[in-house]
Amino acid sequence: MKRTKIKDLLNATSFGTEVRIMGWVKTFRNNQFIAINDGSSLQNIQAVVDFNHFDEALLKRLTTGASVDIQGQLVESLGKGQRVEAKVNTLKILGDSDAEKFPLQPKKHSLEFLREIAHLRFRTNTFNAVFKVRHALAYAIHQFFNSKGFTYIHTPIITGSDAEGAGEMFRVTTLDFDNVPRTESGEVNFKEDFFGKPTNLTVSGQLEGELAAMALGDIYTFGPTFRAENSNTTRHLAEFWMIEPEMAFYDLNDNMDLAEDLLKYVIKYALDNCSDELEFLKNRLLDEEKQKPQNERSELDLISKLNFCLDNAFERLTYTEAIDILKSSKPNQKKQFKYLIEGWGADLQSEHERYLVEKHFKKPVILTNYPADIKAFYMRQNEPDAEGRRTVRAMDILFPGIGEIVGGSQREERLEKLLQRMEEMHVPAQELNWYLDTRRFGSAPHAGFGLGFERLVLFVTGMTNIRDVIPFPRTPKNAEF
Ligand code: ATP
Ligand code: MN
Repeated sequence: MKRTKIKDLLNATSFGTEVRIMGWVKTFRNNQFIAINDGSSLQNIQAVVDFNHFDEALLKRLTTGASVDIQGQLVESLGKGQRVEAKVNTLKILGDSDAEKFPLQPKKHSLEFLREIAHLRFRTNTFNAVFKVRHALAYAIHQFFNSKGFTYIHTPIITGSDAEGAGEMFRVTTLDFDNVPRTESGEVNFKEDFFGKPTNLTVSGQLEGELAAMALGDIYTFGPTFRAENSNTTRHLAEFWMIEPEMAFYDLNDNMDLAEDLLKYVIKYALDNCSDELEFLKNRLLDEEKQKPQNERSELDLISKLNFCLDNAFERLTYTEAIDILKSSKPNQKKQFKYLIEGWGADLQSEHERYLVEKHFKKPVILTNYPADIKAFYMRQNEPDAEGRRTVRAMDILFPGIGEIVGGSQREERLEKLLQRMEEMHVPAQELNWYLDTRRFGSAPHAGFGLGFERLVLFVTGMTNIRDVIPFPRTPKNAEF
């Protein structure tokens, strides 16, 4: 007999028919009621056994975490909170789960504890919901770009350039550390390494993405990126996934419009397709926030927050305008910021980003035209302003509770300007000759951005630590599983 998924059984009306269920025992109560989950739904199905008809030794094996194969009759449930249940006819244990040893018991576990047993945390309701939402968001991202005629490009994970400009890199090598080959002058001889030169894990697919955009028009990448930065925060991973669209003939405004559309599209998709999961996560967050003082709790619950984000245009302003707001803000005047804003040119820290989003505008914000000196070499240069200050056509999108979720720019398409900037910033032009070819042959205005996928998942699920929205987080001193 074929198995039916629990999600389908919970919606079924074929009462009286025989069904087959496979799943894991969540709880077994009163020697009678088994709550079973097979991952297809957050909800369990209840299977009822008549203990008079089953061997006691067999029923003893119905422990939390055990997997079972059940056949029985689908019946209308008399119990509260469920519409259907199954009356068990045959019961087989597929895999035992020793109650003494299984670390997940039917009670609340802390997220910190669950992080230590990340190989088992998929089995909790919270992580079931988080990873369902993560999947839905990934799917919606492809759907969005596909519907707009974008081409999905797979940029390399191992890169031969160490000048991508987005962060510290991880070296990729097969050299023997106990016997490193040296050149005559004593340096490591990378000619003997696997690729015959130094290679790294990519920090961004953008530069290769630009090459593709200069022929295919609108492209995007969606893949893993790696940063060897020692930032132990709740928003940084050493390995994270990034969505990087790159569009020919787009200017900064087109770029912002696309990013805002994308974010709203995928958030709406999650609201429409993950209502059970989001409802669960909403309640989880309310529960968690009960332990916080009133003034630290969110003003909106998770679902209201997501809807609010859909219903309001993101606030767009320049870096210079933002600095003015921050300079005269209360936390700056009262010296409550860790990094005080003294004036123009300061890099914004996450405390500043969050002040703008959460306290000042109370909605997502897009900041544009940052000082050239705090941004990457490839961003398009604006004419210096009346005071001679140099800015670039950058745009960062800041989200409540997250800070920066998107970083992007219109790119510098003028060869001379780009070369001059690379020299100023000590970016080796020789190594990026292939990149510069796009500016030599048919250069065109273009723009793009990077959206950190885990930061998006954080926002939509209402989780507070980025380690809890990727199955197996990689962070400094941690690469378990
Ligand atoms: P931050 O200032 O927060 O470190 P960044 O300026 O280094 O971000 P970009 O290089 O612009 O970020 O990368 C694009 C996007 O990738 C960011 O907006 C963010 O969403 C995401 N991102 C960047 N670094 C990380 C990281 N270490 N872990 C997870 N996501 C990241
Ligand atoms: Mn960074």
